[in-house]
Formats: sequence, structure tokens, C-alpha cells
Amino acid sequence: MTSSTAEKLISAIRTIPDYPKPGVQFRDITTLLGNANAFATAVEGLAQPFIGTGIDKIAGIEARGFILGGAVAHRLCAGFVPIRKKGKLPHDIVRVAYSLEYGLDEMEMHRDGVKPGEKVILIDDLIATGGTAEAAVKLLGQIGADIVAACFVIDLPDLGGRSKLEALGVPVRTLIAFE
Ligand code: AMP
Repeated sequence: MTSSTAEKLISAIRTIPDYPKPGVQFRDITTLLGNANAFATAVEGLAQPFIGTGIDKIAGIEARGFILGGAVAHRLCAGFVPIRKKGKLPHDIVRVAYSLEYGLDEMEMHRDGVKPGEKVILIDDLIATGGTAEAAVKLLGQIGADIVAACFVIDLPDLGGRSKLEALGVPVRTLIAFE
């Protein structure tokens, strides 16, 4: 990705200071999604390295990972599988618990959403501490997915998420970073 392309993505993202709580710089991608050129650039940037590599499924993390992941799945002619907050999926599920800043949460996916050995790319809008993506990797691992990579538009490198996933053997790709 060229620096002008990265600049285009960075300038399409709106930063909301102190949301949802003091001290957090919230990176709001709704402005990127509403900008046809920036949205297409982000989807292409996420999909491009994997064109023609036989990816079976994109796993998208609720909720912004659904929007980006659906578009990337279409670009790669792959299927899409949602990873959801607990209690939202109607069929037989696998579940993983993970730590939030305060307490625990759980995420789920359909047990038959990915077949063992299928090549999967995990997608979300942003990686911060990596706790959410790490839980999704564990969930996909439970059903024997071959996790080819985890891809995000935005990296917050100061929070160390990338190394958390790499320690699990999952390559990480991000398009832009906010220090
Ligand atoms: P983490 O588990 O710490 O890597 O957090 C990643 C998840 O939280 C992603 O689903 C993001 O959408 C969301 N998130 C965390 N920090 C931010 C932020 N500063 N701006 C926007 N979304 C965030």
C-alpha cells in the first residue's frame, strides 16, 4: 500500500476523543464506509494479497468486521462466517470466553460455519490489545480452521495486539496505524 493510499484511508477515518470513555481516541470508520473511494480502497487493500490463493471463508467479527468481511469475501469469491456476541446465533455453536477490561465476555460461531481444514481469513476493523481477535482465533481453532491470516484496517501498535496473534502463529496484516 503506497503512502498516499494510506493517507487517503487515515483522512477518511474520524477520530472521536474521549469516547466511549475519557482517554480513548475512538477511530470511527463509519466515515470511511460512507466514502465510496475509501471503502473500496480498504476492501481492496485487505483482499489483494489473497486473490487467487484459494481462501474458503472470511470470518468477520461483530459488528464492523461484518461490513468489511462481507465485502472482502465477495472480492475473493469466498464464503462469509459471522463471529458473534453470545446468544445471537440460532444453530449449534462453539463458544469461547475472553477477558474485557472489566469482567468476561463470550463470543460464538456456528459449529458448521467452517469445515476442518478450510482456509480462513479473520477480519475486523481494528486491532488494539488483540484480546477480541485472539478469542476469535481460539474459536476458529476449536473447529480446526486453517487460519491463513488476521487482517485489520487499523493497528494501534502501542497496545500490542499484533504480537499476541503472532504468538499463536497467525500472520497479521494491517493497512494503517495510529500511534
Ligand atoms: P481489542 O480486543 O483490544 O484488540 O479491541 C478490538 C475491538 O474493539 C475491535 O472490535 C474494535 O472495533 C474495538 N476497538 C478497540 N479500541 C478501539 C478504538 N480506539 N477505536 C475504535 N474501535 C476500537
